[in-house]
Amino acid sequence: MRRWIPCLVLTAAAGCASAPPQTQPSTRPSLVVVIVVDQMRTDYIERGLPHFTGGLRRLATEGTWFRDAAYPYLNTVTCAGHSTIGTGSLPYRHGMVLNAWWDRETGRSRPCTSDGTVRNIGYSGKAAGGDSARSLLVPTLAEALRRETGGRTVALSLKSRSSIPLVGRSATAIAWFDELTGWTTSTAYAPTKLPWLDRYFAANPVKADAGRTWERLLSPSHYEGVDDGTGERFPQGWTQTFPHVLATTVPPFTAQWQRSPFADEYLGKLAGAAVNSFGLGRGKGVDFLAVSFSTLDLVGHQFGPASHEVQDVVLRLDRTIGALLDHLDKTVGRGRYVVALSADHGVGSLTEQYAGAGRQGGTESLAAINGALAPFFGEGKYAVHSAYTDLYVAPGVLRKLEANPNAAAAVLAALKKLPALAHAFYASEIAAPEARQASDPVRRAAALSYHPERSGDIIVVPRPGWMLSTTSAATHGTLYTHDQQVPVIFYGPGVAAGVRGGAATPADIAPTLGALVGVPFAAPDGRPLVTLTADK
Ligand SMILES: [Zn+2]
Repeated sequence: MRRWIPCLVLTAAAGCASAPPQTQPSTRPSLVVVIVVDQMRTDYIERGLPHFTGGLRRLATEGTWFRDAAYPYLNTVTCAGHSTIGTGSLPYRHGMVLNAWWDRETGRSRPCTSDGTVRNIGYSGKAAGGDSARSLLVPTLAEALRRETGGRTVALSLKSRSSIPLVGRSATAIAWFDELTGWTTSTAYAPTKLPWLDRYFAANPVKADAGRTWERLLSPSHYEGVDDGTGERFPQGWTQTFPHVLATTVPPFTAQWQRSPFADEYLGKLAGAAVNSFGLGRGKGVDFLAVSFSTLDLVGHQFGPASHEVQDVVLRLDRTIGALLDHLDKTVGRGRYVVALSADHGVGSLTEQYAGAGRQGGTESLAAINGALAPFFGEGKYAVHSAYTDLYVAPGVLRKLEANPNAAAAVLAALKKLPALAHAFYASEIAAPEARQASDPVRRAAALSYHPERSGDIIVVPRPGWMLSTTSAATHGTLYTHDQQVPVIFYGPGVAAGVRGGAATPADIAPTLGALVGVPFAAPDGRPLVTLTADK
């Protein structure tokens, strides 16, 4: 029998340096588990660690934690981050540059997973639209495991853009939660509902959480700061402060439920049921389970990163993830599965808690462009759409600007005059491959997010503390540390416990997991950080 030897690779030059593992595997792991926590910054783990007793403690203290890991690109949003984790590629290559980009052909905003050739299937009612990984331009690790080992692949989340990019174009089972229709899948993955999921959702209705009260897990003195922080927002029917009681009527129950730790608990139990139902980790191939917990993002956007609500969601996630790992120990066996924990992006502070900062909606950037061009070309709608940092102009406008450098310069000057904006430049500046190695960190980050058909024509970057949104209390989507820095932790047989410094990005996750299960996965933007090599 081949033995699997741990190898910790920190830099290409350092080569393979063995470190003492927790448990030495005698056979390769049979299950890959990817846990994504939407909007979880690295410092949330440090802040919560003294109070963690469950899965986050186990992963952070018994796994290898790449402490300096960060996304290297500008558009730190959900679809881009999940696609990077799922594929080991960066947005310029995987193409999922934003949650939704402007479709220049149809003149409409196009969500990253929307696909007119498939139809969504609701487990408890008729679902609208269709979602798939059609826009994902590179393969996923999950697809490789399925193809090369015959493994089963499962992805579960509250959001389609957090489940689909983790598995790719095919999956054994995939489900996400739609605010209107509840649990949903798509004909891209199966022609009809899966019977076991249908039974599970019928036996475990989300509505069973109606009327439940969300109180802090620990006594209030365990939480940093105050419960009624300045600038906090909250879903309809709640207030800024605990307790939060879930309504008994829909709406507002569904919106509240998704913003409560009960949704994470539900997802954790659903993942456990999937492990049982498919016998994940007990088949012939290497199986793949992805769970993306969305609640932290929804809570963070409204209450902000300093809130007791965010702290409590993370504390309870520690317990929820702990229960899932305990379940895997019992069903698959400790030492038979590997885990990667990460996040799709971080989040900035509430603008109200940041001196001198403010908010600006996307319409103000568009108005600045239109105003700057009126003296040159007459009044008109030259700028048509804004997707946070990405501004799109109407067909033909770029050609006019190329022919009129004064008009082109006036656009950038008008944008830079807006108090919210630190940078404004044309996408043509970052379109060449060399821009991805530019010495200017802003141009370099924007180039790593840039796809010519999907990205904006003009890229803007807000000043520190400023937000290009008026609807959220806090948000993300920039190249600042609070948005880019996320946990990258590996756990499992052969992976040594320890905190590591040095460059790492979530694009390293897919090639590292592939290496840990002996299925090499080529990902040109990532590299294996920890590998198990077979001893012949
Ligand atoms: Zn978000």
